[in-house]
Amino acid sequence: MIIVMAPHSTEEEFQAVIERIQLLGYRAHVIRGVERTVIGAVGHEDKSHLPIIEQMKGVEAVIPILKPFKLASAEWKQQRTTVRVGDVVIGGDEIVIIAGPGVVESEAQVLAAAEAVRAAGAKLFRGCVYSYYMSPYTQTEFDPEKLSLLRRVREETGLPVVTEVFSAKDLDAIAQTADMIQIGARNSQNFSLLRLVGRLRKPVFLKRGMSLTIREFIMAAEYILSEGNSEVVLCERGIRTFESETPFSLDLNAVPVIKGQCHLPVFVDPSHGTGRRHLVAAMARAAVAAGADGLMIEVHPHPDQAVLDGAQSLRPEQFADLMPQLRRIAEAVGRKI
Ligand code: PEP
Ligand code: MN
Repeated sequence: MIIVMAPHSTEEEFQAVIERIQLLGYRAHVIRGVERTVIGAVGHEDKSHLPIIEQMKGVEAVIPILKPFKLASAEWKQQRTTVRVGDVVIGGDEIVIIAGPGVVESEAQVLAAAEAVRAAGAKLFRGCVYSYYMSPYTQTEFDPEKLSLLRRVREETGLPVVTEVFSAKDLDAIAQTADMIQIGARNSQNFSLLRLVGRLRKPVFLKRGMSLTIREFIMAAEYILSEGNSEVVLCERGIRTFESETPFSLDLNAVPVIKGQCHLPVFVDPSHGTGRRHLVAAMARAAVAAGADGLMIEVHPHPDQAVLDGAQSLRPEQFADLMPQLRRIAEAVGRKI
């Protein structure tokens, strides 16, 4: 619930409210404005608690938050959140493009990819340093050496780097290099890992699990926020449906639905969302038109030789052709790239 203190309420009245809500099992988040103090009581909301607080001295209003998520909700925070990664601001007027290969393979591969995407206008570089998907026979183990290739990319191109953590044991090492830490679709309900990244002071790029409802997805973000890390970027990456022409169905509804309920920036990943290179551009254009705050696109210098996700990776020249189209659409919807 959100508790609005009356303009002339006293410090004692404020303290009494804080003590009472803590007694009732809530955590207090205080926002002191010029005119008013607002207290967010975060916890499992019990309707019977509202009148108790409402009747306390100095309280002007108590507004329940009806959604199961609190800190992530648009009721809790009216202004949209911006997340800074290096010099890049996510969630502002500018639509931010993150691009790079599925996985980091070699120095030549990452540097070629990074130079190409930077020249075309990408603002962040992506690349997993290991992968734990699909099959125990194809997974690759965490290799800290691969992180040094990401640092090289950053030094050479100035692009901040985004990379995925699959397991808590690798988090420290990854957090030391990554400018933003990705939690992939398959870990989006790994609540202990979400809590751990919630304790970092580092942006988190959270992808939607392929069978998560929008509400469950925002609840996953709530886990991170509830530990104190408010720098969270959400990413729609396709969900599982009965459709079999593509491995996943990109749920573009999620963009305006989430933005209506939640103040966090929302990205779209048209690469995993379609699984097919020839479909990526169309869905990237549609995502910008739908109001996405950014896109994550897989680009590989030689997709046919990629160890993972080659079929959905754009060639550098395809990415370079796409960017001006995205710029025109961004302008049409009052944004820029
Ligand atoms: C990725 O970004 O490379 C990836 C594997 O994404 P997802 O977790 O959405 O499948
Ligand atoms: Mn991938």
